[in-house]
Amino acid sequence: NQKVVLITGCSSGIGLSLAVRIANDEKKRFMVYATMRNTAKAEALKEAAGQTLGQTLEIKQLDVCDENSIRACVDSLPMGKIDILISNAGVGMIGPVECQTIEEMKSVMDTNFFGLVRLLKVVLPDMKRRKSGHIVVISSIMGIQGILFNDIYAASKFAVEGFCESLAVQAMRFNLNISLIEPGPVITEFERKVYEEGMKIDLSKVDKVTADMFTNTCLKNYDQMFKSFGQTPEDIAEHAFKMITMENPPFRHKTNGLYTPMTTLKYADPNGDLPIESFYKMIFQHDKVFKASLTILKLLRWRSRKSITLDKEKTAS
Ligand code: NAD
Repeated sequence: NQKVVLITGCSSGIGLSLAVRIANDEKKRFMVYATMRNTAKAEALKEAAGQTLGQTLEIKQLDVCDENSIRACVDSLPMGKIDILISNAGVGMIGPVECQTIEEMKSVMDTNFFGLVRLLKVVLPDMKRRKSGHIVVISSIMGIQGILFNDIYAASKFAVEGFCESLAVQAMRFNLNISLIEPGPVITEFERKVYEEGMKIDLSKVDKVTADMFTNTCLKNYDQMFKSFGQTPEDIAEHAFKMITMENPPFRHKTNGLYTPMTTLKYADPNGDLPIESFYKMIFQHDKVFKASLTILKLLRWRSRKSITLDKEKTAS
């Protein structure tokens, strides 16, 4: 009586770790379909999956930007049934909007937002019919709080959050659960890809103040930010594992306690000025304070890595 789990974007990072973590469940409660756009890139997953491959883990092709590929993948599952869908595939993007084309922006929205919508259009009808299912979405802390020069990425994750929040009420009527997992920085391929793309941006298309701001705040601190605040994909997988084994999973879950002060600012001021002004001061006026807080947060880092408790509910046995 295994639960069927389908995960997207499993060739690397969080998706890969998730697939391996769930397939290694001691009680073998799950059959994991680890999907990826290009199955030629399955080597890392195969290696990490070890003996679970062909037992509790199977690899399948699925491109979240291609409706036919989603349909074909779901149709290939026993009775087309999915108990737990984990929408993980996603891409990042940094830089001044003046330097980004609408096509590039659409591509981020197409993967991060419409990718989820496409999945749900295929998966929801059967879950509704069976009145059973859990949809877990890897969102981001940027799904609730915008960050400098992450305009389009944050917009794509805000879209995900608004979509899920609206859908969650309908889902309740069908006894379905929707959960958003909101990590801060996670040390994966994502970081490298986003940084490399950021470095390639032609900053001559934008005024000097913006170009300097991007270079000196965003690019310069990018690596340091991941090193200071970053969690591992295994950390995130552990959070998600807890989420899918809970009796009553929460709608939202942040994986990194270091971001709690930031999101608290957002909810503390109904006018919305507090987080924006705080970020401004932190970045442009109190550089020393900012650097000191980075050091303190670094010292606290070990704590966040350990805190994987989801406190709403105890986990199901
Ligand atoms: P990653 O780049 O290692 O993994 C993303 C995966 O999605 C890749 O395997 C990629 O091939 C896949 N993908 C991209 N387009 C796809 C498509 N059209 N169809 C199927 N798969 C596709 O990065 P990651 O950090 O593991 O990212 C996973 C998720 O976590 C993303 O949704 C990302 O937005 C989110 N996230 C990442 C971070 C971070 O800092 N790394 C932080 C918060 C949230």
